[in-house]
Order: sequence, then C-alpha cells, then structure tokens
Amino acid sequence: MKIVFATNNANKLKEVEALLPQIEILSLQDIECYKDIPETANTLEGNAILKANYVTKNYGFDCFADDTGLEVEALDGAPGVYSARYAGEDADSEKNMQKLLKTLKNNTNRKAQFRTVVALNLNGEQQLFEGNCEGEILTKKQGEKGFGYDPIFKPTGFKTSFAEMTLAEKGAISHRGKAIKKLIAFLSTYKS
Ligand code: IMP
Repeated sequence: MKIVFATNNANKLKEVEALLPQIEILSLQDIECYKDIPETANTLEGNAILKANYVTKNYGFDCFADDTGLEVEALDGAPGVYSARYAGEDADSEKNMQKLLKTLKNNTNRKAQFRTVVALNLNGEQQLFEGNCEGEILTKKQGEKGFGYDPIFKPTGFKTSFAEMTLAEKGAISHRGKAIKKLIAFLSTYKS
C-alpha cells in the first residue's frame, strides 16, 4: 500500500515513518507537490481535512494529514489550532516558545495537552483519528531533539521533556503516536 502523508514538516514525516514501517509513505516532495497547502479552518479537524482533501483532489492519491495544537489550560485552550502562528505571522518555534514562556511566567497552572487529528482519505472514504498527550509547560527549554514546542513540554509521568526523548520514546506516548496507532488499527481491519 502506498499513501501520501501531506506534510512539509520533515520531523513529522520521520516520526510517522517510524510508526508505520508496513506502509510505503510518499511525501509531498515525492508527488511533486510544492504548494503551501492552506490551513484556514478554525479547528484541528477542519485543517487536517483541508490538507488531506487538497492532495486527494489535486493529485488523486490516497492520503492522510495531521493537524496538531498545544492546548494550555491557563489560557483556556490557546494557542490550540493557532499554535504555529502563536507569536505572529513570521513566527518560528523559538519565538512561539518564548512567547508562551513569557505569557505563563509566574503562573503556577502549567497544565497543557497536545492534541492531534489525523484525516485519512482512502478509496473515496474519509476517516478521522485523534490522539492527545497531557503534560505541563516547563519554565525553561530542556533538550535538543524533536521540534516545535517539544523543549518546553513534559508529558505527565515523565521526568524529561519531549525534546529529551528518542523518536521511539516520544512516538510511544505522544498525541501523534496515539492518533497514528488508531489509523494503523483501522488499516489492519480494512477491506477494500
Ligand atoms: P501543525 O500541525 O504542523 O499545524 O503544527 C502546529 C504547531 O504545533 C507548530 O508550531 C508545530 O511546530 C507544533 N507542533 C506540532 N506537532 C508538535 C509536536 O509533536 N511537538 C511539538 N510541537 C508540535
């Protein structure tokens, strides 16, 4: 089975490839899609669907896409679906983390969760899978691995941030890992 993973994020691609060795995953580069696929919905579900549908409609491939948000309890769930642009239109991971650390400075409620929604288009049908990972926002960055907000997120029950974990350690407990495991379970029972 060949399926496109609609992402331009090389880190996400690595994480998902490690979880799905049984499937040949094509990247957007592999199908020569160099477009910045619009993420204009105001929910994670909406954006995951936009990305998956863009590839299926324009390139004709079965495809899955994920959208992820960091939901911080003290900020009523923000930045959530706007996590990528939390520090503004020209934001990058460093600016986003610095803004979050500053916003939560002196705040004792550090509870947060990552939530991922995966939309899968397979043989003309669409399925959604969700995963979450609860934890807390650290007071400073820890670790060099991973991407995005990983250096300031410590999952519940662990002593280290996501950025101090290997790909396999993060994948076993992460929001994306859980959503992809649901996708794997669906595929393993799927009859075309
Ligand atoms: P998107 O799903 O690519 O739109 O990601 C939204 C934002 O969350 C971006 O700033 C990403 O860097 C960040 N992000 C997505 N997944 C993760 C993750 O697994 N760890 C840390 N940050 C993430």
